Amino acid sequence: MNKQITADPKTGEKICRCFKRCGGCQLQEPYAEQLERKQEKAERLLSKYAKVRPILAMEQPYYYRNKVQNVYGKGKRGEIVSGIFQSTAQTMVTAEHCMLEDRRAAPIVRTLKQLMHDLKIAPYDLRTGTGLLRHTLIRTSVSTGQVMLVLVTASPVLPAKKHLVAALRQAHPELTTVVQNICPDGLPLTLGERSIVLFGRGYIEDVLCGCRFRISPASFYQVNPAQTERLYSCAVRAAGIGAGVTVIDAYCGTGTIGMICAKQGAAVTGVELNRSACLDAAENAKRNQLETIRFCNADAGKFMQETAKAGGHCDVLIMDPPRAGASPAFLRAAAAMKPARIVYISCKIETLARDLQQLTQAGYRVTEIQPVDMFPHTTGIETVCVLQRAAHASSANAQHARAK
Ligand code: SAH
Repeated sequence: MNKQITADPKTGEKICRCFKRCGGCQLQEPYAEQLERKQEKAERLLSKYAKVRPILAMEQPYYYRNKVQNVYGKGKRGEIVSGIFQSTAQTMVTAEHCMLEDRRAAPIVRTLKQLMHDLKIAPYDLRTGTGLLRHTLIRTSVSTGQVMLVLVTASPVLPAKKHLVAALRQAHPELTTVVQNICPDGLPLTLGERSIVLFGRGYIEDVLCGCRFRISPASFYQVNPAQTERLYSCAVRAAGIGAGVTVIDAYCGTGTIGMICAKQGAAVTGVELNRSACLDAAENAKRNQLETIRFCNADAGKFMQETAKAGGHCDVLIMDPPRAGASPAFLRAAAAMKPARIVYISCKIETLARDLQQLTQAGYRVTEIQPVDMFPHTTGIETVCVLQRAAHASSANAQHARAK
């Protein structure tokens, strides 16, 4: 325990002094109350569709984040300070510790600050546009033990980089790769197009549900590995996967969920907009020796519309869109393709509720709603929602409405 993170004398639960300023956590009440609050919200917004199962809680709701981003600046005495980028205020909140992040990240950041001082690597100043180091991204894997450090710089010239990498590796033998990403402009915390591998393979690997995944700096990957395994297991079980079942995994990221389905014999098409994630997905399929999965680097809405227009079909649609949810055009095309089941994985309950309305009107009935607490201490709620195509959808929905 340090000065910043202490324990509540009554409950023994952790408290962070940066809580109000940082914004990374939005909830600091006891974990049981957080869960109650999330369950209530899920029920308020979703129980008109089906019974909401009790939220799957974490055993230890701390230090779960496998993706850690830090920004850097100069302190009052000219020393290098690090912290969290507070997006609403567009400013840096200095913080040495975080009770959500993998504990391997903070010591690496500490060493880096010392090296920046010694090697005269200036933090990038957003207001003046001067300096070099914009931010760092650390990705970790609990299952493989691999750790990646990405140094995001405003220009490609990184002084004394051999010495920098050697010193980092000496202090942190757990580092398995170090990458420099060049991002001349853009919003804080974004990555640029160009990456230079300074040491190692330029990516880390993680194992989830028996599959091995490669994760590059820019690819989306779920941030809470323990809960992701539970989320994926729930989604794949609900999808009713078996040999020969055809699956579309829309918004597939690095192909994780589709690959778990392919491992169980399904024929899968993954669709993903981000090119880097899509390349990782194709590579991941090879590594896992999966031959019944292919990936399409496209907008999921366009892909669904084109596939529906061409008379395409799938038995199961798995969809895991970003917070904005799916577009009406995506949902129309999805219903037109008549999959027997839709497994909707949502990270924002409001957009899920909105999209369920369209899907239930288009002939689907919600049969299962399982919230999963992927982001303790934040307001985020992840939900697996299962829909079945109902032969007489309107009567099935009316029955549920009457039963309530
Ligand atoms: N199912 C994956 C990723 C979910 S996150 C996993 O569990 O890891 C949502 C993904 O949707 C991201 O990878 C993002 O790049 C992708 N995405 C966002 N908008 C998209 C769109 N319009 N079409 C296809 N993919 C999109």
